[in-house]
Amino acid sequence: MEEKSLFWADQLAEKIVSRKKFHYTDEKVPKLEKFVVKSAASVSGVLHIGRLSDTIRCDAVFRALKDLGVKADFIWTADNVDPLRKIPKEIPKSYEKYIGVPVTDIPDPWGCHESYEEHHKAAYLEVVNQFIHDRMKTYSMREEYLKGTFRKHIEIILKNYKTIVDIQNKYRGKDNKLRDDWSPWQPICEKCGKIITTRVIKIREDGMVEYECKDYDFKTMTAKGCGHKGIDDPKKGNGKLMYKSELAAQWANWKVCTEGFGKEYQVPGSAFWINGEIIERVLRFPMAEPIFYEHLIIDGEKMSASMGNVVYPKDWLNVATPELLRFLYNKKLMKTRSFSWKDLPMLFDDYDNHEKVYFGKENVENKKEEEHMKRLFEISQLKKKGYSGNVSFDYAVMVSQIVPEKTFLDSSIEIMKKTGHLKGTEDLDSVKMRISLAREWAKKYAPERSRFEIRDKVTSEIKSKLTGKQKESIKKFSEELGKKDCTEEEIMDMCREIAKGTGIETKDFFQGAYLSLVGKEYGPRLPRFVLAIGKERVIRILKGVG
Ligand SMILES: [Zn+2]
Ligand SMILES: [Zn+2]
Repeated sequence: MEEKSLFWADQLAEKIVSRKKFHYTDEKVPKLEKFVVKSAASVSGVLHIGRLSDTIRCDAVFRALKDLGVKADFIWTADNVDPLRKIPKEIPKSYEKYIGVPVTDIPDPWGCHESYEEHHKAAYLEVVNQFIHDRMKTYSMREEYLKGTFRKHIEIILKNYKTIVDIQNKYRGKDNKLRDDWSPWQPICEKCGKIITTRVIKIREDGMVEYECKDYDFKTMTAKGCGHKGIDDPKKGNGKLMYKSELAAQWANWKVCTEGFGKEYQVPGSAFWINGEIIERVLRFPMAEPIFYEHLIIDGEKMSASMGNVVYPKDWLNVATPELLRFLYNKKLMKTRSFSWKDLPMLFDDYDNHEKVYFGKENVENKKEEEHMKRLFEISQLKKKGYSGNVSFDYAVMVSQIVPEKTFLDSSIEIMKKTGHLKGTEDLDSVKMRISLAREWAKKYAPERSRFEIRDKVTSEIKSKLTGKQKESIKKFSEELGKKDCTEEEIMDMCREIAKGTGIETKDFFQGAYLSLVGKEYGPRLPRFVLAIGKERVIRILKGVG
């Protein structure tokens, strides 16, 4: 009997293909030719790495479905019938007149795309595509509405809008009921082109919608309504469904089986569940299975421009790989993913361990755990690759700070070969990549503890900080080092013996050595550090303690 995978995406895929009944009713799930995974975004707003999580996780489920041997599709919608809400700094002031207009209908301020929205969408997808395995089929909601894709869904929804009001009211307090004139359809004003300003007055028997264009107050500014009173035909698609209906229509149209949502959608009465009930009771298709996840937080704080802690994808790619972000997001779904730049080496170590297990270089006692690690590593990959045999990130951080700026890649490789950290079987491209990333990390994010600069001369200031016994032991160390080639262990033993012989604590000996080499009382593990710097250079420096 085959063991069931413990990996969350495999479990979800299994659940999706074996569904029998609707969630809210007893209706039978129809036989599906293929299983559709959907991700979505509103493309305006700051694109930080947190916003990649949805698509990366959907990609995992998409692959899990395909690995079950069923047909699957991965789609992405730009939820773009969305009004411009404020004028970002880089946009001309004159764009204030577009506040309240759908972003698809606003010209591109940079002039390189058809619209403001196209510009942002192109930038968004270019980034997202670097982090996912397969290309998604992308759809623009503005286009789909205009093409009539949603005509029949809109008709059914408008006919049943009272049911939809009832569904929502179940979750609303007694004093917070939706008004009877709540409209699931929001037209775009035929006169001024704004969407935020239209108030629906009446949904007529014939399915037409009467509206009035009125001022709308945002927190900081007002979208001016033009005062027009009009009649809109929703079937023409010049507007949008409200989110608590639109999602249901999207699921029904593309036969979506699953979609990602932040954990705030888990609570009863959220737009996710409301849409679930709408699709099952009104559009008669099973609701999508949710992929609920925690949001990424940085050093315990939510990412925000005002906090100044926003991590852009390009920041990530300067110091880490797309695979590592996939690894981070796929590891655990519902555990708070707090990330801190200082922990990047640990994340790399964790990833490397998974790689070793995946390629059978290391065994794990618990076989289920082993399978899980292999699967997580596999899902984190973008391309099929062999075992990289990479050096640890920490080690790369150390070496990259020892070598000269101009030749850092070649010089680092040379050191790694000389000290036996590279044996010649490794994937050199991966190693070089890691050295570059480690070097950037050391410059930008490394905590003070991991940063250093080799001092080629022991200054008199340092000398004055050293005790007589420290100087004596350091001199002895430089003599002993010169006598023969040593391994890291042999150097460690040497340090202990010298400290003992001089009558000081080993830690005081180390402190003296670090002061002499890097001007700080601490540094990377000394034996490994000495071999990386090169014995000759170390001896030359240490002789200077006088
Ligand atoms: Zn553009
Ligand atoms: Zn108007």
